[in-house]
Amino acid sequence: MPVYSLLCDSCGKTFDVVEPIRDHEEHLNKHDLPCPNCGSTRLVSQLGVVAVKTSKKS
Ligand SMILES: [Zn+2]
Repeated sequence: MPVYSLLCDSCGKTFDVVEPIRDHEEHLNKHDLPCPNCGSTRLVSQLGVVAVKTSKKS
């Protein structure tokens, strides 16, 4: 299962969630995934950031 890195928009904490893609999209769409720190459902997916690999420099 994929690991999603989420940022809580309320408390600023980041945390990882492991769940199927379909469940994850549904959770985000319905705002049904509470922050484990403060319980807010205002979460921002950080998946794009995690997936990015920096290219070689120099
Ligand atoms: Zn939070």
